[in-house]
Amino acid sequence: MVVGEFGKEVDVLVIGAGPGGYVAAIRAAQLGKKVTIVEKDKLGGVCLNVGCIPSKALISAAHKYELMNDDQGMGITAENVTVDFAKVQEWKQGVVQKLTGGVETLLKGNNVEIIQGEAIFVSEDEVRVNRGYESERLKFNHCIIATGSRPVELKPFPFGGRIISSTEALALKEIPKSMVVIGGGYIGIELGQTFAKFGTKVTILEGENQILPTFEKQVAQLVQKNLKRLNVNVVKNAMAQSAEQDENSVTVTYKVKDKEETITADYLLVTVGRKPNTDELGLDMAGVKVNERGLIEVDEQCRTSNERIFAIGDVVAGPALAHKASYEGKIAAEVIAGEPSAVDYKVIPAVVFSDPEIATVGLTEAEAKEEGYEVSVGKFPFAANGRALSVNATDGFVKVVANKENGVILGAQVVGMEASNLIAELGLAIEMGATLEDVALTIHAHPTLGEMTMEAAEVALGQPIHMVK
Ligand SMILES: Cc1cc2nc3c(=O)[nH]c(=O)nc-3n(C[C@H](O)[C@H](O)[C@H](O)COP(=O)(O)OP(=O)(O)OC[C@H]3O[C@@H](n4cnc5c(N)ncnc54)[C@H](O)[C@@H]3O)c2cc1C
Repeated sequence: MVVGEFGKEVDVLVIGAGPGGYVAAIRAAQLGKKVTIVEKDKLGGVCLNVGCIPSKALISAAHKYELMNDDQGMGITAENVTVDFAKVQEWKQGVVQKLTGGVETLLKGNNVEIIQGEAIFVSEDEVRVNRGYESERLKFNHCIIATGSRPVELKPFPFGGRIISSTEALALKEIPKSMVVIGGGYIGIELGQTFAKFGTKVTILEGENQILPTFEKQVAQLVQKNLKRLNVNVVKNAMAQSAEQDENSVTVTYKVKDKEETITADYLLVTVGRKPNTDELGLDMAGVKVNERGLIEVDEQCRTSNERIFAIGDVVAGPALAHKASYEGKIAAEVIAGEPSAVDYKVIPAVVFSDPEIATVGLTEAEAKEEGYEVSVGKFPFAANGRALSVNATDGFVKVVANKENGVILGAQVVGMEASNLIAELGLAIEMGATLEDVALTIHAHPTLGEMTMEAAEVALGQPIHMVK
């Protein structure tokens, strides 16, 4: 088809097949809609292809390697443990392919039409899909924008050659000898720590006076301690200025207070944030408003300023996380299908797959106080939990924050092994409006890390068993 021909009519058009888009497409199809999804790159989006999944795969491989090299006082030693990094990458890619293949099967199994190409709005109810020299027009009743985000590129550090984003870092063919990371947020920490475990000499430059600056200090400190153990050089209050690269290395200049320093490494990884893919979509043609940060403005039903068009995931405000994108995808699909759904953001867990892991949900103690609550707080250490001791993971704690007046749980933070899984119970507790007593009175299997949730609730109630007050 050529541009200008009459558009094919589609009912629900989803643009982008990441965790927002593909979930929205499946749910809309389940609710009886005829759905078409357009993807310009690979099904699964950032999360499955160059984000959540490949990073977690590399993290687990690096962790395995670290454990094999470390006696840990258990009396088990191994010699000549080696890493075949090409094999690690092949395995990682296999995991990605299994999952992206699964997304294709699910879309097809729900009769979602998949179109490969780049969608651009040409009017309030029409997009043009470009595919090489070809293009076709699609006229829609409803559309869901789920085009996600891409790494922020800093002017002095344009991506290319030795200056890389998370995408290239995840696909490196060899373990670098050295790496500088600009940005100590969760992506920088996860990747920096992973390469450090594989043996890379890592330096992290963080502009604030704490790594993971969006998390509580005591939480970030436990990760900092582990980074130190791995010989990672964390430079705080560091302002990266410029970089010069040649074929084999890159030299970065940065300032701490007023002192200028330089450092040379194999690669410079820039992880200073992500920006929404909303600039090349023709949103003005569609009458879809964006804010000054390029995020699409939506109401509580994910509807944009154009009634027919919805937006979800990294292109709208809120934490740029896969489960948030999928959640919004379901809401948008339900609203299009005529259901009275709306978003409720009280429970969006956030996990950093650092070592130790960090997981949070709901309000922190400081946030709860800011909102005017008088709080009861219970904190239980991994070091006092039998399971944590028997798996040799004693760093960390479970912290529960509750409303003092009625015991209703407002938030929780977990640092330590399996924090990513432990947080689920506390998310459910908040969603259900559970109190400290509800959690404390729930029988938790012994010996498990999950018992710490019960014990943290008991601490908050002033009656812990395995801790002296
Ligand atoms: C290294 C890394 C690690 C991460 N780890 C985690 C994690 O552990 N947990 C977590 O929750 N989140 C994680 N994230 C964030 C997560 O990947 C994103 O929040 C999530 O992918 C957002 O989903 P989305 O559907 O909004 O967009 P995306 O996943 O970005 O998908 C958007 C899709 O739209 C396509 N597209 C864009 N424009 C067009 C167009 N014009 N036409 C057609 N198609 C288009 C893109 O090709 C892409 O496939 C990580 C991100 C990175 C980079």
